[in-house]
Amino acid sequence: MRTTSARAYATPSATSPLAATTIQRREPTENDVQIEILFCGVCHSDLHFARNEWGFTQYPAVPGHEIVGRVTAVGAGVKKFKVGDTVGVGCLVDSCRTCPDCLSGLEQFCAETTMTYGSTDKHLSGPTLGGYSQSIVVTEEFVLRLPANLDPAAAAPLLCAGITTYSPLRHWKVGPGQKVGIVGLGGLGHMGVKFARAFGAHVVLFTTSPSKIADGKRLGAHEVVISTDPAQMAAQTASFDFILDAVAATHDINAYLNLLKRDGNLTLVGAPEKPLPVAAFPLIMRRRSFSGSLIGGLPETQEMLDFCGQHNITCDIEMIRMDEINGAYERMLTSDVKYRFVIDMASLRD
Ligand code: NAP
Ligand code: ZN
Ligand code: ZN
Repeated sequence: MRTTSARAYATPSATSPLAATTIQRREPTENDVQIEILFCGVCHSDLHFARNEWGFTQYPAVPGHEIVGRVTAVGAGVKKFKVGDTVGVGCLVDSCRTCPDCLSGLEQFCAETTMTYGSTDKHLSGPTLGGYSQSIVVTEEFVLRLPANLDPAAAAPLLCAGITTYSPLRHWKVGPGQKVGIVGLGGLGHMGVKFARAFGAHVVLFTTSPSKIADGKRLGAHEVVISTDPAQMAAQTASFDFILDAVAATHDINAYLNLLKRDGNLTLVGAPEKPLPVAAFPLIMRRRSFSGSLIGGLPETQEMLDFCGQHNITCDIEMIRMDEINGAYERMLTSDVKYRFVIDMASLRD
């Protein structure tokens, strides 16, 4: 298969920093869209993956799944996109397209899904390589349209942080009259606050960082609770319809289960390295449930982008150069991100 070279940032092992390299991208085939990457968001999953915290990373690893770019070429069979379009690519670049999950537009749950990075590449040898690069080639069905009114850099994190919070809030029918908690004001959490507010709920942010109280309210929270203060937590007991947990590290999940009303649900989207022990009593006492959620399928991702276009919702970002990525990872580990790093890919060409 014919390929072209692209500059990228990769890591060869769990303990090495990311560094400049050259990778190969396939020439667009019949149904492919070739994209020059303009911006790529930095998700905490990129860090978990680069450092093999989930145990399945194949190296070399090129993270990045919050991609916004410009179409530079299309295959002869491509119908939805043309050269010059501004488009997005999220966590998925392919799936089987025939299983019940794919036919329901829930491609994220397909057993043969191809993730943007770290899956086996169907076209080239080795793992799929993500958005910390100059370009990417993706089959048309997995490319998203970006509403023209959204700033492309601030829209990039919608492709993961956006859909990962939008999807469970929709699934659990969050809306007016409900009290909804968002745990952790990071990349995902700040979008959870914005969406829950836009859907009409009473929104309570739980944060470990007192320095984020004012931002939490500015972003849409009606109340901010400092989760390390037992008195503030006790005051919220058994009062929530729904809580979305977007914490990247080990924490006490039972403390949040206790805040749910009868039949309330706590959905985990955070993916910490270590298991989170769940006690029986907080669950059984009020018939509460605890569940998880994984990004969102292609139709819902497009729906989310269109919703953001209609309501002028984007992410609060701090732009970085590609060569600042290792420092950005260290800041992410100290919860010092306001509220998503986005890489200006032009810095990779300098
Ligand atoms: P992030 O920007 O680093 O935010 C995580 C937030 O968690 C921090 O800002 C902090 O908020 C809170 N936090 C961090 N350490 C904590 C601790 N020890 N105890 C309590 N709170 C702590 O991360 P992100 O990109 O939003 O990702 C969050 C998690 O979701 C990651 O594990 C990521 O892999 C996962 N994820 C899952 C999916 C999915 O499909 N399910 C998709 C994307 C990401 P405060 O300062 O407010 O406390
Ligand atoms: Zn992500
Ligand atoms: Zn499938």
